[in-house]
Amino acid sequence: MALVYNWLNILQSVLFRQTCRLCLAPTGTQDVALCAACQDELPWLPRTCSGCAVPLPADSTASRCARCQQSPPHLDRCQALFAYRAPVDRWIQEAKFRQDLTATRLLGALLAQRVAAPESRPANLLPVPLHRDRLRTRGYNQALEIARPLVRKGYVLAPNLCRKRRATAAQSDLPADRRRRNVRGAFSVTRPVPGECFLLVDDVLTTGATLNELACTLKRAGAQRVEAWVIARTIERNFGDG
Ligand SMILES: [Zn+2]
Ligand SMILES: [Zn+2]
Repeated sequence: MALVYNWLNILQSVLFRQTCRLCLAPTGTQDVALCAACQDELPWLPRTCSGCAVPLPADSTASRCARCQQSPPHLDRCQALFAYRAPVDRWIQEAKFRQDLTATRLLGALLAQRVAAPESRPANLLPVPLHRDRLRTRGYNQALEIARPLVRKGYVLAPNLCRKRRATAAQSDLPADRRRRNVRGAFSVTRPVPGECFLLVDDVLTTGATLNELACTLKRAGAQRVEAWVIARTIERNFGDG
């Protein structure tokens, strides 16, 4: 997959001028397949809760939502680029289920634009792992492909550090109260990680239960700090369990 991805990059930059995925205007850059005007129109999230990336009320001065204040998450920080809305939701589906490498590459490039270089090094980059059965059916982990451009910023990819040891029902199919139970104990780490820092990456954040379970597993293994960046967060009227 990595090889295909790199060749596709090179081929595209040599043979084609990059055009905007939405309006077909030239982008003027090889990095992101969107023009500046279309980028401005994307459903960027405003100020969000540092624990679960839910948008905070405009008049709020708190850094965390009421739910995260009440029961603090294991994640030290959680950020999302977009609300899970058009056209981002479509790109995520294309990256995930249709093996659309141009969608994967676009999402990775948008993420790399926003994520700062690590404050301390080494900083482990940990795409949320898929269970091996799902990996076999899908052929690749979309979270890994989206995270890949962050390596150029100084993050160290740690794809084999953590395993998803049992298949879990899709979080989106479950009511909020069952989501935490569904992922409890789902991950294991292959070595102790005393004092290490982690950046988790995933495509969609629905409840935060998966990211938090992973953060909990890493902290039990000794991790000092665990942050997360996701492409998009689902925003519901009732925020469920965060
Ligand atoms: Zn455009
Ligand atoms: Zn929160």
